[in-house]
Amino acid sequence: MESAVTAARSILTNLHEVMASRANAQAKLNQVVDIIGENLDSEVCSIYLLREGMLELFATRGLEQSAVHVTRLAIGEGLVGTIAKNVEMLNLAEAAAHPDFLYRPETGEEKFHSFAGVPIVRRERAVGALVVQHVEPRRYADVEIEALQTVAMVLAELISNADLIDEYDSLSASPHFVDPQQLSGLPLVKGLAAGHAVFHQPRINIEHVVAEDTEAERQRVYLAFDKMREQIDKMASQAEFGVGGEHEAVLETYKMFAYDEGWARRINEAIDSGLTAEAAIERVQQRTRMRMRQIDDPLLAERMHDLEDLSNRLLRMVSGQVGTAATMGLRGDAILIARNLGPAELLEYDRRRLKGVILEEGSLTAHVVIVARAMGVPVLGRVHGLRGFVREGDEILLDASQGIANVRPGPAVIEAFEARSAKNRERQAAYAALREVEPRTKDGERITIMVNAGLRDDVPMLNMTGADGIGLFRTEFQFLVSATLPQRDRQTRLYRDVLEAAGEKPVVFRTVDIGGDKSLPYLRGDEDGLDDENPAMGWRALRLALEREGLMKAQARSLLEAAAGRTLNVMFPMVSEPWEFDAAKEVFESQLEFLRSRRKMLPEQIRYGAMLEVPALAEVLDVLAPKLSFLSIGTNDLTQFLFAADRSNPKLAERYDWLTPSIMRFMRRVIRSIDGHNIDVTVCGEMGGRRLEALALIGLGLRRLSITPASVGPLKEMVCKIDTREITAAMERWLADPVPDLRGSLISWAEERGIEWE
Ligand code: PEP
Ligand code: MG
Repeated sequence: MESAVTAARSILTNLHEVMASRANAQAKLNQVVDIIGENLDSEVCSIYLLREGMLELFATRGLEQSAVHVTRLAIGEGLVGTIAKNVEMLNLAEAAAHPDFLYRPETGEEKFHSFAGVPIVRRERAVGALVVQHVEPRRYADVEIEALQTVAMVLAELISNADLIDEYDSLSASPHFVDPQQLSGLPLVKGLAAGHAVFHQPRINIEHVVAEDTEAERQRVYLAFDKMREQIDKMASQAEFGVGGEHEAVLETYKMFAYDEGWARRINEAIDSGLTAEAAIERVQQRTRMRMRQIDDPLLAERMHDLEDLSNRLLRMVSGQVGTAATMGLRGDAILIARNLGPAELLEYDRRRLKGVILEEGSLTAHVVIVARAMGVPVLGRVHGLRGFVREGDEILLDASQGIANVRPGPAVIEAFEARSAKNRERQAAYAALREVEPRTKDGERITIMVNAGLRDDVPMLNMTGADGIGLFRTEFQFLVSATLPQRDRQTRLYRDVLEAAGEKPVVFRTVDIGGDKSLPYLRGDEDGLDDENPAMGWRALRLALEREGLMKAQARSLLEAAAGRTLNVMFPMVSEPWEFDAAKEVFESQLEFLRSRRKMLPEQIRYGAMLEVPALAEVLDVLAPKLSFLSIGTNDLTQFLFAADRSNPKLAERYDWLTPSIMRFMRRVIRSIDGHNIDVTVCGEMGGRRLEALALIGLGLRRLSITPASVGPLKEMVCKIDTREITAAMERWLADPVPDLRGSLISWAEERGIEWE
């Protein structure tokens, strides 16, 4: 045999005719085994297909015909069952020497020594096996195995078109994909969720395997390669990929694969053998997967994911199916599976059906996680090798509070999960009962607890939790969910609706904080400064807004109009120097003047505030404070700058603790330096929503928190059990002579007093 290409090509040409013929499915299979047997010079060629959970001999040349539809093997039983179970080929010089060999007398196979079999795969599951056998004991050449694998792909199409197998009944797959698996990761948004796995980037189902016109297929692949390379190059210059570290390494690998001539050549060869562009990409991918599996190297396995990603990207391009699972729409309760997501991508999902998210990457303060928290969707992050264990449609029980996800759970796990869910519901009901309770400490200190929000749908949470107001309304969320820059009237409408829904309770609107990990597709390019090499510290938030005055003016006008006759609380993000606050305020004041000159109704009162997110501002608070009505400490950004640790870098997700003397002393200094200025100080970062962190902040003298709605109940419960004098004294002691483990000290303190802190 000359090569895999010619062998496969001549088989495929013949198979093409068979498939196009009007013969019934069984007759076609009979012809197929003859064609393969002849072309590969093999004495036996057999096809086993999955029926009612068993692998049944459907057609054979060389074995006893009376065994057809009689010989049946379970998944994992005998050599054929092993191939199907592992979704891996077997190539044996002496079949009987293999530990899984099982002799079936009705087949008359005892005279054949050598054996080669490949799985027939459909939607990543083995739905059958294609086997050749010879009398002479010998291992098969690579070209023969390759030809078999190509033919197996064609068979998968033929079988599915002929409805020969029930695809949803076919539970066979590799052990990774069959057995229950418990995956562990980092709890990013706590909570429980049940649903079926949905891949953010769905796998493409290849419908046509045999090419009608090889040249046309080649052109399709060329075009797809061009597009993909262009996309990868563009990624290099884009915000979310330009941060260095892990992203850079990934990008480098992507580039290496995207421009790898070997990969392109192998796809071309597969096309030469008669496959369609999609099938050729998949075929090469299968082969690489198989080779990589034989190499036991975790680093290579990581790279394998990159190649899979890229291969899927190429497949999507060639098939024109470029949407994510969000664009296709969720059909049932879904647990979303992704390597990582952007906040805008997450917001595209139907909130009623999206029950949970599992990421290979992710960190606590990445905006996608903040958005998920706002949506009340549990998120488990940092799950290594995730996509190697989960398949589209798998049942998943996600317990993000405990940091685990059970894939394809067994009955005992389901029972335990249901018990935990019931407990959880009880606890939620207990928190809900605290709705009317004022958060007041044992010694009578009133703690103001507000919620963070960003979308119209978030506002009902204000009343459901009984919070004191909205302490941070992230106005950029509206920008993130829009395909284009939201026009002024749309902004006004949203702000007015929010104010109306909040009634008497205050709402603090933060002006747009775009940039960093919140990039907008319609605000890109140098002109907008969003291609920063280090976007978290780049042209973002107020820096960008002051530059793009039109954007800020429109927002100022919208807010002023929406708050006509009411109090408008507005704050500016990422103020780094006092003059930036002045300049931003000036934009509002000039819009106010404009409205006044038009005799429009104005807000009754405007309160201006700043966010403390840039450490440098802390040194000049004495200059800024007299100009402010309030200050809000954005600890997500503040701590990333204090630790010089990118908040969205998954590698740093578990590195630094907020409960360390450095952060706590810094916070204490800020709180103290504001004392006497008669302005409100709030913490609105994610740390305020965690009980232990909130406890520490109260111990530093903080009395106002703006947090994720789900934390309001747990926090109220805790606040009512503490005495501020006691925690203040303890924090003083721990910070004066820093304890090695501040978190541990806080836990002991809480436990000694019967205060739940988790
Ligand atoms: C913060 O930085 O703490 C903050 C509240 O703002 P954001 O998370 O939106 O950057
Ligand atoms: Mg911030």
